[in-house]
Amino acid sequence: MPEGKSSPQRADARNPWLFDTHELSRRPGSSHQLRRDLPVESTLGVPDVVEVEEGTTVAADLLLESVVEGVLVSGTATAATRGHCSRCLDPVSGETEVSVTELFAYPDSTTDETADEDEVSRIVDDYIDLEPLVRDALVLALPLVPLCSDDCEGLCSGCGAKWADLEPGHGHETIDPRWAALVQRLEETPGDGTADGSDR
Ligand SMILES: [Zn+2]
Ligand SMILES: [Zn+2]
Repeated sequence: MPEGKSSPQRADARNPWLFDTHELSRRPGSSHQLRRDLPVESTLGVPDVVEVEEGTTVAADLLLESVVEGVLVSGTATAATRGHCSRCLDPVSGETEVSVTELFAYPDSTTDETADEDEVSRIVDDYIDLEPLVRDALVLALPLVPLCSDDCEGLCSGCGAKWADLEPGHGHETIDPRWAALVQRLEETPGDGTADGSDR
């Protein structure tokens, strides 16, 4: 009996990532503009590098068009990103916008019958699930080498301080390791001339 099927269906209707195709006429050529903030339920991206954080929203601006085989979804999705500059490690925040185009096939369409399971998106129980489409597009578009600014000079390899914070001409004297021991001994025994082979 259909009772068992009705409860997940109703839960689905409240999921903002799902578009109910009943809102769109099946007649080819009809279209529906969808502007919706989609909640990010688990963080996307690369931890500490660049992420779209859980609890933020993705602004979707999509056109859904009826075509013979299904519904063509196209438009943009925009998400706020957070991460760290890959040169100086400062926190950076930004925005990533992606364009998406995807055909969701009707269950009984030729596309559905001739395409493999993972080859084409499908309309399931009259719903279009926008999540895999938007999520995958965003993840692929995230900048994997985020920068706080294009000309960020990064960190001094000698002391780890940010070049932007250092005095002009900042540098580190590099001492030959063979001399370093001598320098250290001279510093430890200032003006003491009585040392006699004490390094044995
Ligand atoms: Zn930087
Ligand atoms: Zn330094």
